[in-house]
Amino acid sequence: MIGSKLKEVWICIKSGVVTAPYPLGPPPQPLPEGFRGRVEIEVEKCVGCGGCANVCPAQVFQIKDLAQDFRVIEIYRERCTYCGRCEEVCQEGAVRLTPEFELATNDKADITDQLEIFMASCQRCGRCFKPVNKVLDRMMETGFRT
Ligand code: SF4
Ligand code: SF4
Repeated sequence: MIGSKLKEVWICIKSGVVTAPYPLGPPPQPLPEGFRGRVEIEVEKCVGCGGCANVCPAQVFQIKDLAQDFRVIEIYRERCTYCGRCEEVCQEGAVRLTPEFELATNDKADITDQLEIFMASCQRCGRCFKPVNKVLDRMMETGFRT
């Protein structure tokens, strides 16, 4: 019993300090590769497919269709568990988990966003259409208006 405890102590001493003193000291730099911080959507790349909202277990993304050709994605970052599923599923590379991690705030508005996505619609019938040669052609149409 005592022998095994001494062995544990020896292993701990031998491995040295493996944690950073943050927040008492500066955060470790550079951050490890693949670090998952604040989630961001690049609105220029987003096609409004809703894939990120479909896979997010914490319902960070709320999609609202305010008009036939106008989709709004609301982002509630306080719910995020940093699982990274949204980044994996976005075929347009529009979702990114940035290195930003100091997100504590007294104002919820700091971590909430509202993105406006223009959805192309047919000039004849007014309905949304799937852009030619876009990744949407290869995707299931869950969440996509026809
Ligand atoms: S999965 Fe990507 S393209 Fe689709 S709505 Fe989300 S951010 Fe936009
Ligand atoms: S990292 Fe996970 S919890 Fe956070 S927004 Fe993406 S899918 Fe949702």
